[in-house]
Amino acid sequence: MARYTDAVCRLCRREGMKLFLKGSKCFSDKCPVEKRNFAPGQHGKDRKAKIVGYGLQLREKQKAKRIYFTLEGQFRNYFEKAAKSRGVTGAKLLEQLERRLDNVVYRLGFAQSRRQARQLVRHGHVAVDGKKVNIPSYQVSAGQEISIRENSRKLAVLELAKEYASHGTTPTWLEVDRDNYKAKVLSLPKREDIQLPVNEQLIVELYSK
Ligand code: SF4
Repeated sequence: MARYTDAVCRLCRREGMKLFLKGSKCFSDKCPVEKRNFAPGQHGKDRKAKIVGYGLQLREKQKAKRIYFTLEGQFRNYFEKAAKSRGVTGAKLLEQLERRLDNVVYRLGFAQSRRQARQLVRHGHVAVDGKKVNIPSYQVSAGQEISIRENSRKLAVLELAKEYASHGTTPTWLEVDRDNYKAKVLSLPKREDIQLPVNEQLIVELYSK
């Protein structure tokens, strides 16, 4: 399976904002966005032109794709499904991204970043309704119970993630019992439930050209 293997901090620097891809480092003064807030590369400091039109749409799409750490093909598939479904395309796109199992594990505070959450899922540490699910893109549904499997609860990363959990609040569409590593999906996420610095309308305009 294809995956992004390059340095991730440069993705944040390219977008000019923290995308929180590295967990605890993102909250420390070692974060490169704090130290070198300009685009990566030889000419990073020179790129000061105001971005408009297509450039703005492209940056918004790249930002969303990078926040959820998906590849281009997968992101496009989400858009095509959203465009075919009923409702507002941009909101449906974000809903699908938000319902990914790796994102849910991250939102619940069981991992410090979506990348770490993806690894927890891939390595078989997460269960949905009591059954192991090792597919990070699995779409959770309302009423399902998400848990860390019994034998995995002593993992050091889970202890460290508890500290991270204090940096964010659990979204209203999820309910979590962190001490017992269990959670419930109360409802599907609506746009207003999704805390994301992204203007999804610009992504829709980009893909609708
Ligand atoms: Fe982004 Fe985190 Fe790296 Fe900072 S430390 S640049 S927020 S991934």
